Amino acid sequence: METYMMSIGGQPVQAERTFGVVNPATGEVFARVPAGDTAHLDSAVAAARAAFPAWSRTPDADRQAAVHALAGVLERHMPELMDLVTRETGKPLGGLNGVGAGMEVGGAIAWTHVTADLSLPVEVIQDNEQARVEVHRKPLGVVGSITPWNWPLMIAIWHVMPALRAGNTVVLKPSELTPVATLRFVELASGVLPPGVLNVISAERDAGVGEAMATHPGIDKIVFTGSTPTGRRIMAAAAGNLKRLTLELGGNDAGIVLPDANPEALAARLFGVGFHNNGQTCACLKRLYVHDSLYEPLCQALARLARDAVVGDGLQADTQLGPVQNARQRDYVHALVEDARAQGARVLSGGQLPEGAGYFYPPTVLADVRDGMRVVDEEQFGPVLPVIRYSDIDEVIARANDNPNGLGGSLWSSDPARAAALAPRLECGSVWINEHGAIQPDAPFGGVKQSGIGVEFGRYGLEEYTTIQTVKIMKS
Ligand code: NAD
Repeated sequence: METYMMSIGGQPVQAERTFGVVNPATGEVFARVPAGDTAHLDSAVAAARAAFPAWSRTPDADRQAAVHALAGVLERHMPELMDLVTRETGKPLGGLNGVGAGMEVGGAIAWTHVTADLSLPVEVIQDNEQARVEVHRKPLGVVGSITPWNWPLMIAIWHVMPALRAGNTVVLKPSELTPVATLRFVELASGVLPPGVLNVISAERDAGVGEAMATHPGIDKIVFTGSTPTGRRIMAAAAGNLKRLTLELGGNDAGIVLPDANPEALAARLFGVGFHNNGQTCACLKRLYVHDSLYEPLCQALARLARDAVVGDGLQADTQLGPVQNARQRDYVHALVEDARAQGARVLSGGQLPEGAGYFYPPTVLADVRDGMRVVDEEQFGPVLPVIRYSDIDEVIARANDNPNGLGGSLWSSDPARAAALAPRLECGSVWINEHGAIQPDAPFGGVKQSGIGVEFGRYGLEEYTTIQTVKIMKS
């Protein structure tokens, strides 16, 4: 069994102990990683601080080239990284609608190239006989990145690449459940970046490394993707040195199918955006509101797709949906389904805990579900889709908005212009028409309300890794 290493100051680092990483398809440990601690964090922050002056002064074109070179590293090691992502997350190599480890590593490559090509030129606000006023973007210093288990490598790339591109140095802490592909990537990146520019620490949950990052005086910004409760704790802990924050937190995205939609034409797409990666994506469709006139045919079409989906070990070529990433999450999803069933929901597919090894759960479509049931009100983050009936558009928009989350939302219609006209009424950071969760590296993405603070991707995302300096040059 392979043991992976942390990278601190450009060197591979082992800890006194290691811990096992479980393959959720088998329930067995497949790799070991160092059990890092807060002393490792202090070393990593010191290495990142030491590397910052030179990296931040590196000519922009050289930093751009370095980020493109990191994309090259990902490209050259794509099969190995895909294999690690599948083993640690359970997501298939291919997956439903091509959403799997191939998309995770391929997406990481694409995001890296696009981010490398971004730039933040000096903006001239005024240039006349009195004065010239320029707005410069400067890096912040050391960025601490904390990532979740659902898209571990891709989300690490989303944090690291804009941070480096803007001239910051980074200390990265992956989820204790899925650290392997990230450790391997940073090890490979050491061949491209100067020592200390990118450091990574693996740690068990109770080692307190995440908490220590949030309070660390040597870290200038935290970029965090994970649950809303953890985001709240980080925000409180980060107050000590007024850390800058980007928080990408939970979502409970609603989709609204308008009465003019064609249920047969939409069913497969709706199923895909609700169930790919087993629903373990922040911006998956998590609540589907369907107009009364289409309700029953659409529910039945979704249930048929759920029953036909191929669930299995993600390493097998034809698997569409793998296991849930961990036992706790699987049990939570099942508890939500049981709660809904007890309150009168119709279980049209799935809903049973399977026997055998691994954390599998069948794709589950629930009908006759109401707002107020836990499976609707809470973020399930698993392979279950509650389908909720509505009859009035004003009422359904109010119901979609009646949730503390505000990550994404979607409207489904045969008349995209009619649907787009309703978009401003949804309280969420992204609205998709006849799509859901369709992010791209050049368009900003982030949550409103309790789904987060700030955005990622494109120029807007890059700006979050900088501070503004205004320079006024008097001419007379
Ligand atoms: P989590 O909050 O349990 O853990 C995320 C990370 O935070 C892990 O690395 C963990 O070790 C660390 N952590 C835990 N407690 C901490 C603390 N007190 N201080 C600092 N770090 C701490 O989240 P998870 O279960 O890994 O991920 C699932 C959640 O992430 C879901 O709610 C999902 O919606 C959300 N998510 C959001 C986005 C987005 O872009 N908005 C993307 C993916 C996932």
